[in-house]
Amino acid sequence: MEQAKAYAKTYRKAHQEFSQRYKYEVLSHYSEGIPKCNNCGITDMDVLCIDHINGGGKKHRKEVGYGLTFYRWLFHNEYPSGFQVLCFNCNMKKRISLGV
Ligand SMILES: [Zn+2]
Repeated sequence: MEQAKAYAKTYRKAHQEFSQRYKYEVLSHYSEGIPKCNNCGITDMDVLCIDHINGGGKKHRKEVGYGLTFYRWLFHNEYPSGFQVLCFNCNMKKRISLGV
């Protein structure tokens, strides 16, 4: 039992690191260097995410997946255009100002 728990913990950690690597790859591509918010310039990876410039993110994410799956999709589709890096705050502000 303890062993299984330890294994689960290790697996979770490895998975997390793996996801972070993909995220970093994708974000640094869209930021053309060090990942940063396209609006305010914050570089805190924990609050950065990919934004659909013209909206429609909800529908698209439903099709291709969330989180790691989404970053992998971008990576394997050779970084399609129409996306940018935004931080959580700017993403929220954009949504509010667009009313979406
Ligand atoms: Zn920002």
